[in-house]
Amino acid sequence: MGFRRNLVIRFAKWASNMSQKIRGGQGVTLPGYIARKLDHNILTALNGDVRKKTFVVLGTNGKTTTNSILYNALTAEGEKVIINKTGSNMMNGVTSAYVLATDKKGRLDADYACIEVDELASLTVLPEIRPDYLILTNIYRDQLDRFGEVDITFQKLKEAIKKTPNTVLLINGDDVLSYTLAKESGNEFHVYGINEQIFDDTSRSEIRESIFCRQCGHKLEYKFFHYGQLGDYACPNCGLTRPEAEYSASNIRLTNVGSTFDVGDRSFTTGAKAPYNIYNTMAAYAALRMAGLEAAYFEEMIAAYDYGNSRESQFDIAGTHLQIHLAKNPVGFQQKVSLVLRDDTPKDIIILINDEAQDGKDVSWLWDVDFQYLVDANANSIIAAGKRGYDMQLRLKYEDIPCEVTQNLKETICDCIDNRSSNLYIIVNYTGLYSTNTLLKNLETEYAGKEGQS
Ligand SMILES: [Zn+2]
Repeated sequence: MGFRRNLVIRFAKWASNMSQKIRGGQGVTLPGYIARKLDHNILTALNGDVRKKTFVVLGTNGKTTTNSILYNALTAEGEKVIINKTGSNMMNGVTSAYVLATDKKGRLDADYACIEVDELASLTVLPEIRPDYLILTNIYRDQLDRFGEVDITFQKLKEAIKKTPNTVLLINGDDVLSYTLAKESGNEFHVYGINEQIFDDTSRSEIRESIFCRQCGHKLEYKFFHYGQLGDYACPNCGLTRPEAEYSASNIRLTNVGSTFDVGDRSFTTGAKAPYNIYNTMAAYAALRMAGLEAAYFEEMIAAYDYGNSRESQFDIAGTHLQIHLAKNPVGFQQKVSLVLRDDTPKDIIILINDEAQDGKDVSWLWDVDFQYLVDANANSIIAAGKRGYDMQLRLKYEDIPCEVTQNLKETICDCIDNRSSNLYIIVNYTGLYSTNTLLKNLETEYAGKEGQS
């Protein structure tokens, strides 16, 4: 790394520091932006200074968790690791992660890099990083109103991966889109997945447009679904068949507090309560093994790993247990329905649906979620909230499930705490997460105050 480059890095760090002091906050992508303006090769150069390997994580769901597990696993092995923060997975954010990882002299001291990359940014980021390994978690549709999104994502990812032909891929073989992409890319690839049927009926929801063969357009046949489009598929027309997973989870047991499962001759006890987090865990573990690492501390690390990522928060207020769960697409929502069903104690459920830009303006995807299973949820009440609360109510009406709508979320939550069951689930889509979290934090303080006075 040359003298000029060190200077660029030090200047970028100093300038973003100053900017933060003057304007406050929001400086995660700024160092990357400045550094790139001064030296457009900075990302390639810095990644070149990583001593061992670079992992990139791509995919619609599970990127952040998979990348974070990978980071924790490598750190547990005593390695020095660069990771980019949630929400900084585009070009400037990724560059920032490297810039900010340098020391005072602008030098990088890292064994590994674990970088999560946004699907649409992959086209520009991948050619600059040329990662040794690329983990593709899955390719799902995020929101219906960006119609054709799956195809666009698929094409962008394929184009991006083709630009880095020496990168070894790790894919979820249960996802026909990921498998097709890997085959079409021409890159070397390895497969993880779940070889046996393990999940109950309630975990399934058919995401219709995904079950057609990408090679010939024929309808795929499934021996079984895990959830969403994931499962054991085959095309009766062209012979495309799900690949046997080299890394497969077996003996999976899901409970209210977590799960246990085996991969090969190793057994993991985790806090993962949802199947998608078993996939995320497996993806990280398989990536390590694929890279030739023993991952000797993986069991220990994963047993203590917190899957919350602040996306799933729990509160205990005046004797009521409250949980917030984020579900941003039909597959995610189905998983939350399953999660609620595994808890057979009495409960109240609030479902908050917004339609801001980040949520998707069109909420017709609600019709893709199999809400009918909520009949068996042992719920005292199901309450819809948010800007599209009435759409949620209508959706449940079609399943003959009674549902009130609230315009005052705080009042409703207080009513649940004061008068209803002591177990409250709040399922929210994207933009409801932050405000609901804040609301619960404030309520926690308010109630603590009340208890103090009495
Ligand atoms: Zn086919």
